[in-house]
Amino acid sequence: MIKAVRGTRDLLPPETALWNFVESAVRDVFRAYNFQEIRTPIFESTELFARGVGEETDIVAKEMYTWEDRGRADSDKGQSLTLRPEATAGIVRAYIEHKLGDRGLNKLYCIGPMFRRERPQKGRYRQFYQIDAEIIGPPSAGSESPARDAEVLEMLATLLDRLGITGWTLELNSVGCPNDRVAFNEALRKALDPVKDKMCADCQRRAVTNPLRVFDCKVPEDQPIIDALPRISQFLDEGCRKHFEAVQEILTKVGIPFSLNDRLVRGLDYYTRTAFEFTHGALGAQNAILGGGRYDGLSEALGGPAAPGIGFAIGEDRLVMSLQESASAAGVVKKPDLYIAPLGAGMNAEAARLARELRRHDLVADLGDETFRLKKSFEAATKAGAKYILIVGENEVKTDAFALKNLATGDQISVPRADLPRRIQE
Ligand code: AMP
Repeated sequence: MIKAVRGTRDLLPPETALWNFVESAVRDVFRAYNFQEIRTPIFESTELFARGVGEETDIVAKEMYTWEDRGRADSDKGQSLTLRPEATAGIVRAYIEHKLGDRGLNKLYCIGPMFRRERPQKGRYRQFYQIDAEIIGPPSAGSESPARDAEVLEMLATLLDRLGITGWTLELNSVGCPNDRVAFNEALRKALDPVKDKMCADCQRRAVTNPLRVFDCKVPEDQPIIDALPRISQFLDEGCRKHFEAVQEILTKVGIPFSLNDRLVRGLDYYTRTAFEFTHGALGAQNAILGGGRYDGLSEALGGPAAPGIGFAIGEDRLVMSLQESASAAGVVKKPDLYIAPLGAGMNAEAARLARELRRHDLVADLGDETFRLKKSFEAATKAGAKYILIVGENEVKTDAFALKNLATGDQISVPRADLPRRIQE
């Protein structure tokens, strides 16, 4: 038997109804903030991610699905391509390529699959889905303003509330500017030097290549060492500190609760200033529903114009998981209103005509087959979870009135064709 590849999975009904519920809430909420959809390719040139995400990140170093494409002619060397591991790099590439900055401020979102070769576990897959949104534009359009950071965070709180997801926590930090980080990295290296030999293998490597990443460590024995390290908050310059304070001030005014977490550093190189994460208690070890932050230097790193931006990626798999406990998701899975049972030769056509009429009235109708005996039709209707069964036999067609039976109560009545939609909708 051929099975789905490790780390990938089929999203099956009825759960897919929850995915649609999430996506339509996302579209509604984002619309109110004037976000518009962008759809970028699922694969891009490898160089985009190497430059946009950073060669030293786990994603680029270990987790990408990369292959060499065939050239045009057999002798051509192909281009190196990669399945997108995240969405921001592709969106910023499109921003540069199509000169979207000429339109001023852009609010863009996309929904789709991402690919990372991580170790699969509950809430962590190799093909997973992200809902990604970005605000990006030239500085003159206000893209650098702390008002944008607060707007994005307030939108996320609104979305989670709308989905009925309670018990989330917003953790907030500022990772400063590249300048601040030079000084911070220096201080970190100094502090790590005498203690790094006592740390895990990953941290020993990070201490040399990218000390900031030590804060991502989850190994319990390393935590006391990490707790004693200097913090980025001590290294923010005046501009970054003011920016961060302004974000917090707006959030407080609009009533979005948050907690400061100065250990929060993002796994991607291009982040500046605000970094954030929403977590949810019910998710277990992989408890981050979404993460994001500012990336003021990304466009320039990709050869584009100055285009500060802020964005986030929601893990849709995890959002749906936390939704399964939410009351607002109840009733999302829709059962058919009725099952139409043609009874006897020639009745398929009559049933099809009736089904067509009823579906035009927005009724959800399932349809059987004239070769089914009545007992089999009843079983099929029950299995489908239909509210009613409607019998289309020779007698019914002759009188133009049909036997309608409520499957829960067992009540059966004969209903004239014209009254059917109203009777079933009631
Ligand atoms: P990141 O792009 O790493 O900042 O991740 C943003 C969000 O995507 C995380 O908070 C998770 O909810 C989700 N996510 C990241 N990696 C995975 C994965 N391998 N499987 C499922 N969800 C993921």
